[in-house]
Amino acid sequence: MTLRSGGSGPRRELERSFRGRLIWPGQPEYEAARLVENATFDGRRPALIARATGADDVVVAIRFGRAAGLPIAVRSGGHSIAGHSTGDGVMVLDVSGLDGLEIDAVERRARCGPGIQAGRYTTAADAHGMATPFGDHGTVAVGGITLGGGIGWLVRRDGLTIDSLLAAELVTADGEQIVANENEHPDLFWAIRGGGGNFGAVTALTLALHPIDTVLHGSILLRSSAESILRVLEIGHAAPDELTLMPGVMAIPPMDEVPAEHHGQLGLFIDLLWAGPTPAGLAAIAGLRSIGPVLYDNVAEKRYPDLFPPPSGNRSAWTSRSLFIDRFDEATIEVIERQVATAPPGDALAIFRVLGGAASRVPNDATAYSWRDKSILLWIISDTGSDDATRMPEMAAWATGFQDELRAFGSATYVNFMADEGPAAVPAAYGAVTWARLREVKRRYDPDNVFHLNQNIAPA
Ligand SMILES: Cc1cc2nc3c(=O)[nH]c(=O)nc-3n(C[C@H](O)[C@H](O)[C@H](O)COP(=O)(O)OP(=O)(O)OC[C@H]3O[C@@H](n4cnc5c(N)ncnc54)[C@H](O)[C@@H]3O)c2cc1C
Repeated sequence: MTLRSGGSGPRRELERSFRGRLIWPGQPEYEAARLVENATFDGRRPALIARATGADDVVVAIRFGRAAGLPIAVRSGGHSIAGHSTGDGVMVLDVSGLDGLEIDAVERRARCGPGIQAGRYTTAADAHGMATPFGDHGTVAVGGITLGGGIGWLVRRDGLTIDSLLAAELVTADGEQIVANENEHPDLFWAIRGGGGNFGAVTALTLALHPIDTVLHGSILLRSSAESILRVLEIGHAAPDELTLMPGVMAIPPMDEVPAEHHGQLGLFIDLLWAGPTPAGLAAIAGLRSIGPVLYDNVAEKRYPDLFPPPSGNRSAWTSRSLFIDRFDEATIEVIERQVATAPPGDALAIFRVLGGAASRVPNDATAYSWRDKSILLWIISDTGSDDATRMPEMAAWATGFQDELRAFGSATYVNFMADEGPAAVPAAYGAVTWARLREVKRRYDPDNVFHLNQNIAPA
């Protein structure tokens, strides 16, 4: 199929009907427009980047992609860890410009475009004393994080992002514009709450808002040991839902605030958020401070949006793996500490997302994210610290080896933290029952697997 400009054919129709920007190789903006958050994928060269201005553009682009035989990579914020929102010879359907936000403070709901970044949404909602739970990073777009589940600072108080999703507007593989909610297309609504971008291109989301006031946030640094990790996790699970812990094991960097004798040793950085009245929060975290010796403690009162500072602009090549940990004991910690201590040069982290609370009170089969009963998600990160991707095979091999060794203690992964981990990894990330149901919904909404540049669910 020709992609030449002018004349007749799909490209001519696209150029006539698409209101947004079409960026082809060779145009001045192309080199910047093809890049995503992760520098690992800087070598990828799409055939076209189509920047949509609304749902009508999304319809036109999907029809063009199908007619021209171009794989379609949907991009909201470009933070796919697997690099799915770019690719060689693909059409990037870029909906980052669909970033509008309407807040209804009375009804406690917001309607937004998928391209709005979590940080900007959070700042706007905070002006009304409200928040929707997203992740720990302000530049991730609401589109991508919502479709995979959404595990963040408010996961124990308000649940996953999908637990606040009230409705989604989508364009299907056939170019039809539909709404999915509890009453309309309920199976699709079930599937998009964890099933990723497999079922259509999302053009708007309606999300619930929850009250939020001043929060306590920061990090308490201890030396890593089996005793300190087990105690921290015990406190994190027993705490009120307002407390979410994100403790991480990594080598202590040369921080001025920490005595030099600890630099390079394994530290336990207990990143935390308390979203409730401050006196109760100070009581809830007192146990963490008493584990001691505390090497660093910058927990302070903040406004919630302060957790999402503007991006630094530094890009790096990195990868991640994850695993829900079912058995957490000294043997698990031995693996974690040894792997982090022997990681290749760069930044190596093992972060425990302490789950439970509101997220765990939703039945496992209520959404396609079906790991409500898991209490710890381990996120393994390997970051080169630079935009040079040449060492990525070594970094990825370490992360895979680490994940494989931990399979003795856990199972299943979180799709939003997955890299490109091979065809068997995606079914395993859902489990047999959810997987079969997802494949059936996929068969009904995208039987030709038009949306396959994602953690792909093959149609039944
Ligand atoms: C630095 C960083 C920190 C993160 N922290 C967290 C965290 O704390 N908690 C958490 O849960 N996740 C976290 N993530 C993972 C993140 O949620 C996923 O990578 C998410 O998919 C990114 O969304 P995006 O829209 O920015 O990325 P994109 O690359 O644009 O999208 C990712 C994928 O989502 C699908 N998609 C995106 N938009 C649409 C749409 N409009 N319609 C249909 N499909 C779409 C596509 O398949 C696409 O390939 C983090 C990622 C990064 C890079």
